Amino acid sequence: MSENRLLLSPGHVLGSGIAGAIIWVVALFVLRDLTQENLVLVGASGVIGAIAAAIGALYQNYTARHTQEYLELAEHQAHHDALTGLLNRNALFSELESSLKRSKEDDTVLGVLFLDLDRFKVINDSMGHEAGDELLRIVAERLLGTVRGSDVVARFGGDEFVVVCRDLINEKSVLAVAKQILKAFEKPVSLYGGAMVVSTSIGVAIARPDDPRRSENLVRDADAAMYKAKRSRSGFAVFDEVQRLQVIDRLDIERDLVKALDEEQLIVYYQPLIDVRSKRLYGFEALVRWNHPTRGLIGPGQFLSVAEETGMMARIGEIVLREACAQAAVWNHLTTDARGVRMSVNIAEQQLLDGNFPYLVADILDWSGLPPEQLTLEITEDVIVEHLAGLSSLRQIRDLGVSLAIDDFGTGQSSLSYVKQFDMVSTIKIDKIFVDDMGGVNAAIIEAVVAMAKALDLKVVAEGVENDSQVRELLDFGVHIMQGYLFNKPVSADMIDPSSWFSPRDSSSDAPGLSSQEINRAFARTMEHARPARRG
Ligand code: C2E
Ligand code: MG
Ligand code: MG
Repeated sequence: MSENRLLLSPGHVLGSGIAGAIIWVVALFVLRDLTQENLVLVGASGVIGAIAAAIGALYQNYTARHTQEYLELAEHQAHHDALTGLLNRNALFSELESSLKRSKEDDTVLGVLFLDLDRFKVINDSMGHEAGDELLRIVAERLLGTVRGSDVVARFGGDEFVVVCRDLINEKSVLAVAKQILKAFEKPVSLYGGAMVVSTSIGVAIARPDDPRRSENLVRDADAAMYKAKRSRSGFAVFDEVQRLQVIDRLDIERDLVKALDEEQLIVYYQPLIDVRSKRLYGFEALVRWNHPTRGLIGPGQFLSVAEETGMMARIGEIVLREACAQAAVWNHLTTDARGVRMSVNIAEQQLLDGNFPYLVADILDWSGLPPEQLTLEITEDVIVEHLAGLSSLRQIRDLGVSLAIDDFGTGQSSLSYVKQFDMVSTIKIDKIFVDDMGGVNAAIIEAVVAMAKALDLKVVAEGVENDSQVRELLDFGVHIMQGYLFNKPVSADMIDPSSWFSPRDSSSDAPGLSSQEINRAFARTMEHARPARRG
């Protein structure tokens, strides 16, 4: 807190007294009444004036001090974290920016350490938020006690802290600080009577004087390195060249994706879903691809997470939905056999969160002329569970006549009993990880899913079927709708010839135990004969 300036000085008091007396003398002179008693009054008024001035000045001093205290408190709060008293995120960035400037001027090295406590969520959930808060305060103290006075310690948010080490001679000094912090965390923390060791993962980004990165880039890079440390359980990791290239690559993808949307570089591939029991094509899943001008055809794994982070997912989702519905409607037009075939489209979290999404679906169905019964929207189980509030949109979509499928079932958080609550879901897609290994616990899970699906009248689809023995095992479990490379990889629409793909296959043998080789051969034949078919 800065010094309090005293506004009451002797000159002040004397001046006010004299001013009071002069006013009286002038008043009496004007009234021509300069008697002795009145002159006594003049003296008294001088004294009263001085006292009034003193009181006024004291009051002024008091209010000024309090205003100043208030301003200083507000200033402190704006830059500090209320819980730990450390600098907050905003203050960190401005400190870091000026430190970077100084390190360039002084030709010194600067280190940014991004810390994230391990298992903090578990502690918070099991011991309560007060214990969590207390732990964060202890960690803050420990950090302050470990680093040098000239280093900056900030709480970045939640259980994340950032330490900025300034004026270092070389990179080794930064690593020494990281090791020192890890050592400080080895000492058990006493929390509500119990002692526990709380570990942390540290990501390090080092800026040499010629480093072009700004403060946000450095923190972002230290954060990325922290994830590397967490994954490898190595305590700390330094942001390196490989990661730098990954970040640049991501930024390139982000920049190119904006263009891709405008220039219609995104295309839709279709992978068939086969009903092995009836030997019929059950449907298609629409899967987005990017026809990148320099990278060639790239899969969703390389760009959908960037699209999600940058808010482009809703636009991409709409493009795919529109294209898939239009394509299915064209096939309907070309052959009546296509009318019993479904089109499944993946729906991302961002699309579902938009309250207008059901209207968009209705609009696209209307525009394309695709009957709603032919459309299935695939939503991963975590998205459904996390956004129960969005369920009203799911109901609205179901009421349009569109089906809903839980995608990648078994990889998320939901339990089987949970599914019963989603009365609007009509299909469960068992994830590839179960198909890859159908023994042990997985066998029990598949059995339970099939039993529940039967009871709730749900369809079960197995994803990622790659070989004959999987087909046999799945049929034994009672799963007969399958999707996987065994039948077909996803292909572009012009590879799908409606005259051969949609026509019913030879159903002379409709036994459930149909040989998968037979199915395989049938579809391989289909592929051999697949010739580019024009969309109508
Ligand atoms: P998904 O919805 O579970 O789709 C199935 C994925 O498994 C596809 O990968 C498909 O090519 C792959 N696959 C199918 N059969 C096999 C197999 O036998 N073996 C192996 N190894 N893989 C198989 P893809 O096309 O790379 O898509 C990956 C994920 O990206 C999709 O998983 C889906 O979650 C997402 N995705 C794709 N297109 C879209 C889209 O238009 N919108 C949204 N929101 N997500 C999409
Ligand atoms: Mg899917
Ligand atoms: Mg899936």
